[in-house]
Amino acid sequence: MNRSSFTKIAQNCSEFDPKADMFKNSPDASGPTCLNCKHFKHNMCNKNLIDPIKARLDK
Ligand code: SF4
Repeated sequence: MNRSSFTKIAQNCSEFDPKADMFKNSPDASGPTCLNCKHFKHNMCNKNLIDPIKARLDK
């Protein structure tokens, strides 16, 4: 998974929940991405949504 994959996932995720500082301090805050999502912990989605969304996008 690279940065742009995480962006694509988040754009297609209904549970995306941005961390509060997303649009302020981070130079990476160009839009939704799992990397800026509250549910993203230890390099994984704690709602386990990454795999199903990825499967949907790959179709
Ligand atoms: S971390 Fe999980 S809940 Fe957050 S945007 Fe990514 S797939 Fe969705």
